[in-house]
Amino acid sequence: MGTVSEYFGSLVFDDRVMKATLPAKVYGSLRKTIDEGIQLDISVANAVADAMKDWAISKGATHFTHWFQPLTGITAEKHDSFITPSPDGGVIMEFSGKELIQGEPDASSFPSGGLRATFEARGYTAWDPTSYAFIKGKTLCIPTAFCSYGGHALDKKTPLLRSMEALNKQALRILRLFGNDTAKCVRSSVGPEQEYFLITQEMYDQRPDLRFTGRTLFGAKPPKGQEMDDHYFGVIKPRVAAFMEELNEELWKLGILAKTEHNEVAPAQHELAPIYTTTNIATDHNQLTMEIMQKVAAKHGLVCLLHEKPFAGVNGSGKHNNWSIATDGGQNLLSPGETPYENAQFLLFLCAVIKAVDDYQDLLRISVATAGNDHRLGANEAPPAVVSIFLGDELSAVLEAIETDTPYHGAEKTQMKLGVDVLPRFNRDTTDRNRTSPFAFTGNKFEFRMLGSSNSIACANIMLNSAVAESLKIYADRLEGVDDFETALHEMIKKTIKDHKHIIFNGNGYDESWIKEATEKHGLLNYRTTADCMPHLLDKKNVDMLTSHKVFSEAELKSRCEIMLDNYCKTIVIEANTMVNMAKTQIAPAIEAYAADVAKAAASKKALDASLACTYEMGLVKKLSTLTDRIAVKVEELEDALLSLNQADDTVSESVMIRDKVLTKMSELRVACDEAETITAKNYWPFPTYGDLLFGVR
Ligand code: ADP
Ligand code: MG
Repeated sequence: MGTVSEYFGSLVFDDRVMKATLPAKVYGSLRKTIDEGIQLDISVANAVADAMKDWAISKGATHFTHWFQPLTGITAEKHDSFITPSPDGGVIMEFSGKELIQGEPDASSFPSGGLRATFEARGYTAWDPTSYAFIKGKTLCIPTAFCSYGGHALDKKTPLLRSMEALNKQALRILRLFGNDTAKCVRSSVGPEQEYFLITQEMYDQRPDLRFTGRTLFGAKPPKGQEMDDHYFGVIKPRVAAFMEELNEELWKLGILAKTEHNEVAPAQHELAPIYTTTNIATDHNQLTMEIMQKVAAKHGLVCLLHEKPFAGVNGSGKHNNWSIATDGGQNLLSPGETPYENAQFLLFLCAVIKAVDDYQDLLRISVATAGNDHRLGANEAPPAVVSIFLGDELSAVLEAIETDTPYHGAEKTQMKLGVDVLPRFNRDTTDRNRTSPFAFTGNKFEFRMLGSSNSIACANIMLNSAVAESLKIYADRLEGVDDFETALHEMIKKTIKDHKHIIFNGNGYDESWIKEATEKHGLLNYRTTADCMPHLLDKKNVDMLTSHKVFSEAELKSRCEIMLDNYCKTIVIEANTMVNMAKTQIAPAIEAYAADVAKAAASKKALDASLACTYEMGLVKKLSTLTDRIAVKVEELEDALLSLNQADDTVSESVMIRDKVLTKMSELRVACDEAETITAKNYWPFPTYGDLLFGVR
């Protein structure tokens, strides 16, 4: 296959290929479209389509697809072949500019949350030239946005691109105020660290809960879990190493900058981190990464679990969204600069993020809300459901000095006057950084750590980009045209710090006392579940902000709220049904069989010697029997809870009933079954245990 640098990006129609295959004029116009969003005319599109097709065919492709990200959270594709019949009875391979620019998948089965009446089945996909086309198998995949004919976004890419545009617009206004006339655009960039579990295919196949829901719904704690801390950064097992090697190759061919991989805290848990890139490309790449992880795992007889909480009592999987903003010239706007003026600019962007995170805590929480992630947020392993910011002691002290017009501790200057004084050098060492914060400043970027491992990163970045665009807009509105820019800037930074410092928290976010302090003293929001937070998507302040930046229309927001809550309800109902089924048809019968055999053993012992007490057998049979009775009761109660959902008037009330009734009954049933597992002989238990699953890959 050659060296990595030879095959890196070999399946991508990237800039190198465009330059080599397109006429100079066509290449020039396409570049303008990519870099500056200039509309593409059809003659250019035709030329690009032609070159793309020839290139794809040379790589063995026979089909093309508009690859898009509907609101299901995964990706969708419908393949069309390049073949067109020729008059002589043969075929020619064709692909037009029109086919490149626009497609019409039958959209009727994708969730639209009421945006598209089902009779209006058609939606259309539109090429996103800023994300390169690539080849998967024998198909040329063209990244596209997905909209209804009414113009509503039915996907995650469209609002993401809109949020990037909003941020670009407002950030440029700020840069101009600082005298930067050269930056053409400002983009957010993301490096998402992806966690996952690997288990054997054979064991996976034996567990209906894993197959139907992606997580284990039963399972007693194994004798050994993660308490020894011997897995984190430990030696990678040969089978896992082989998986990682092939995964890297596949990702590299697709131009995905997979960079680091290591074992995570839990047994069988691993992480992959790419080098960061522009947000919409990072989003496409993360979707592809998740898909390829699962495919490559299957080739190795493994299953890659992307669920947020596949195992109770063992760390779940998240995704760290490392986020920053930079100019087209490569200036990172969240990196402290060398000169006083650059520092003032940095502080303003920093303040914009602090303000954004505080004003839109709810939107950030909502952006990561799923039934799966609810198991992590607030458990002692992932950041809490309360959003706060970690800045580190030094940067916090700098902000405090500015706020109070007092000398910064350790600096020689008497006062921190922005634009005049050099910002003191604060520690940028990341080794001792706080890993419990949901939103941590890590030297030149923020790390948003609340995302679940299966989440599309689109939602979090849509909210982040939009909220920061809003802060910047408020700043630009205030600062444009003032006489004394420096004083106005200084005052504004001071005001931001004063108004929003309650969101800054440098302590341990996992601490129970923090949650109390956060809500009672700091007045921060604590939406524990999806059912709690999702309806707030439609709060007036959120709708106003998102519609004013044209990221979502109100109808689009309503549809998203509906779809997310519906997804929450369906996910949990499927889990509950799976539990009922497993308890009735697998677990209870297994316990019964074991109890019957134990009773038989006691009877035959007594037949041999009537004086034997058989206390062990009698006691065990009694315990097993009590447990099967309890399981039967709990199954019935869970079934009743599920039936009562019929009384819900709408998705909001259904989600509340699920949160309050169904989830409780599920955990009660689980407790009874898990207890039975610990006293039932292993060869009777109907599926692999936690010990088997977590330590099964060698
Ligand atoms: P850790 O596990 O310590 O959090 P990693 O090195 O695994 O750190 O991940 C850091 C991630 O942050 C990488 O994906 C990296 O590319 C990304 N990153 C670094 N700089 C930026 C930036 N300016 N913008 C966005 N992401 C960045
Ligand atoms: Mg990290």
